[in-house]
Amino acid sequence: RAKSEGRNGYVFHCAELDRAVRERVRVNDELQAALRNGELTLHYQPQVEVPSGRINGLEALVRWNHPRRGLLYPGAFIPIAETTGAIVGIGRFVLEEACRQIKRWQAEGIDPPRVAVNISAAQFKGAAPLDQQLRETLARYDVDPALIEIELTEFALLESTKANSDTIRRVRELGISVAIDDFGTGYSSLEYLRTYRVNRLKIPQQFMTEVAIESGDAAIVRAALVLARELGMDAIAEGVETPEQLAFLLSAGCRNVQGYYFSRPVAVEALRPLLDDGVIHRAPAAPETVRLA
Ligand code: C2E
Ligand code: MG
Ligand code: MG
Ligand code: MG
Repeated sequence: RAKSEGRNGYVFHCAELDRAVRERVRVNDELQAALRNGELTLHYQPQVEVPSGRINGLEALVRWNHPRRGLLYPGAFIPIAETTGAIVGIGRFVLEEACRQIKRWQAEGIDPPRVAVNISAAQFKGAAPLDQQLRETLARYDVDPALIEIELTEFALLESTKANSDTIRRVRELGISVAIDDFGTGYSSLEYLRTYRVNRLKIPQQFMTEVAIESGDAAIVRAALVLARELGMDAIAEGVETPEQLAFLLSAGCRNVQGYYFSRPVAVEALRPLLDDGVIHRAPAAPETVRLA
């Protein structure tokens, strides 16, 4: 078995590398087919205002109904799609499907809350400026821009350039809300806040783990909330699972939360009763439901 010793002591096995490359090519081919065959679908996770329990947003999260492997989560294919470019087609699908779903809800007499869509770095820097893509798609589906939020990770914003901040400004001028996803887990976050004027910060799940026991997590979350408030931005906490975490967030003045405590991401059919109520008071026990096409 051929192998070479890496400089850091890592050992690379050629056979394994080869397998990884072939796996990537295969997944990419399958993803292109999945897009054509309608195997991608969106689940929606409610964003909840506390303490009222009002659902004031939905995050659209992509899933892949794989013909053989079953329901796949983004971790199984988004990172690969980002390296092969398939992410651009996926991103287009996600935005269009979110628009179609908004129109379906409206046709059914439901007044949908704002839908948040994750935008990858490649999509942000794509051939057409993001604001143009968004304007064109929303116009085509006749969707009110106030019903869309985009989530950008710090990765998309790596170079804090004038061009990038202009793009964000133009997106906001369309009436679309802009959020920074997983705030504080990337690089030079504070620099971004100076360059990019966004509507809100999403405080990531990884800071929620120990908030309830007054650890460093609690200090970081409080500081992020103060930062958002001082800069005139909204904040939402992600990955809230327990009543203790919720109690901490309430005491820290965080009014928006998203997490399993209230609801997992769910398929459209499972979301229906929640949208009919408009409020959630506690976590439903059911896991994320699988719907195979
Ligand atoms: P994200 O945008 O930060 O999404 C939140 C992730 O946290 C989701 O995982 C969600 O299911 C999970 N989550 C929500 N609440 C809780 C909780 O209380 N506890 C725990 N343990 N997890 C929770 P998911 O759906 O697997 O998505 C993972 C990531 O994949 C997303 O992170 C996002 O970065 C990416 N992704 C998902 N959909 C898309 C998409 O349409 N386009 C792009 N570019 N990326 C996407
Ligand atoms: Mg997100
Ligand atoms: Mg996030
Ligand atoms: Mg993320």
